[in-house]
Amino acid sequence: MSREFDIVIVGAGIIGAVTAGLVVSRGLCAPNRVAIIADRFPTDFDANADWELRVFALSRASERVLRECRVWERMPADRRCAYERICVWDASGSPQGRGCVIFDCAEIGEPNLGSIVDARVLQAHCLRAARDAGVVFIEAALRGLELSDASAHIALGDGREFRCKLLVGADGTASRTRELLGIGTAGHAYDQDAMVAHVRSEKPHQNSAWQRFLPSGPLAFLPLPDGRSSIVWSTSRSDAARLRALDARAFSAELSAASDGAFGACELVSPIAGFPLQLQYAEDYVAPNAVLVGDAAHVVHPLAGQGLNLGLLDCAALVEVLAGATGAQQVGDLRLLRRYERWRKSENLLAAAAMDGIDRLFSNGNPVLASLRSASLGAVGQLPFIKRQFARRALGLSGDVPAFRVDRSSPHR
Ligand SMILES: Cc1cc2nc3c(=O)[nH]c(=O)nc-3n(C[C@H](O)[C@H](O)[C@H](O)COP(=O)(O)OP(=O)(O)OC[C@H]3O[C@@H](n4cnc5c(N)ncnc54)[C@H](O)[C@@H]3O)c2cc1C
Repeated sequence: MSREFDIVIVGAGIIGAVTAGLVVSRGLCAPNRVAIIADRFPTDFDANADWELRVFALSRASERVLRECRVWERMPADRRCAYERICVWDASGSPQGRGCVIFDCAEIGEPNLGSIVDARVLQAHCLRAARDAGVVFIEAALRGLELSDASAHIALGDGREFRCKLLVGADGTASRTRELLGIGTAGHAYDQDAMVAHVRSEKPHQNSAWQRFLPSGPLAFLPLPDGRSSIVWSTSRSDAARLRALDARAFSAELSAASDGAFGACELVSPIAGFPLQLQYAEDYVAPNAVLVGDAAHVVHPLAGQGLNLGLLDCAALVEVLAGATGAQQVGDLRLLRRYERWRKSENLLAAAAMDGIDRLFSNGNPVLASLRSASLGAVGQLPFIKRQFARRALGLSGDVPAFRVDRSSPHR
């Protein structure tokens, strides 16, 4: 006989763990009626190890979601770094000069514009918070899935079987849940790889996030608390392969040149990780008794650091919709789930199209477009109202956002 849960989540990434945490914190079901299935549960990390190469720029909206499931306060101070400014400039302009736009938290009366966090430490704390809340962890791979009118029937690689009222696919880009649900995807691969590494620089990062748009792709410097920066350098696949084959000294020299002297001489102080980039969106987010969240539903270009932020809003929107179930409506009711789909699909498609458009506009060597871009960025810099709108977007607080349930004593409500 198979064991039964109310909600089963596939995937122990940040999105899977936060969905579980929110379901419990909103009291949608008892903790032991919620399970996460994943190939592994990395709840441990070495507090003395260096920052993970992967870092996330998280918005205020994401911070609020993480506060609600009691993760934010667990994040050690040395594993997050608030940034107060975002400086963006085109390759044809100059840093802090012509064609540069600077968004400053002071202009919108906020203490910061977001935080850079260590990916491994954040995932571990999301999982620990779910575990401490009583969520059941099932270590196995998803093998098969059958949907009926009232439930989803799940078969695991180790032979175990489970039933649930709602199955949540939070298993990332290559989602097996999405595949078993027969949901197709659209999109395209970018001819770009993102190189991720830590660097030291001659000039300080000033607690700011920096992004220079080069014709081959954007180069971002994200501040770390010890004065180093984490770089996310997207460039053509061939150029990325060439750069990664260089020794640390030659790579550092290329990085110093690519950053336009904004930080003086840069020094590579870590290995380099590479990520192939793609735009991917699921054609449907829902099926009877099943739903997709996070990268299983949408993958966007990392140029504005939005993927995880969008996924965390998926989690918050889903629990808000589920909490609004009326009468005899079950959590897997398709009409209920469609409300989540309509809400998040439109927001996510808008964000994906914006990232794609920005990448096409800026990753382009056309000299006419270059001067137009530089002039437009300069003009945005002169328009306080427009700048405030952009800054609120960066905080994740504009658009159709879920209602956050935040501890009233929190300094960043
Ligand atoms: C270079 C780069 C920089 C980025 N920077 C940012 C940023 O600054 N800010 C931001 O918001 N976003 C950023 N993103 C996007 C962000 O990385 C993703 O949106 C986010 O990690 C997605 O989380 P997820 O939990 O949906 O998926 P994942 O992190 O992929 O987690 C999926 C989980 O499912 C498990 N799993 C998979 N298949 C199975 C299976 N069959 N059975 C059981 N378990 C399974 C996996 O083990 C994994 O734990 C960046 C992306 C890239 C590539």
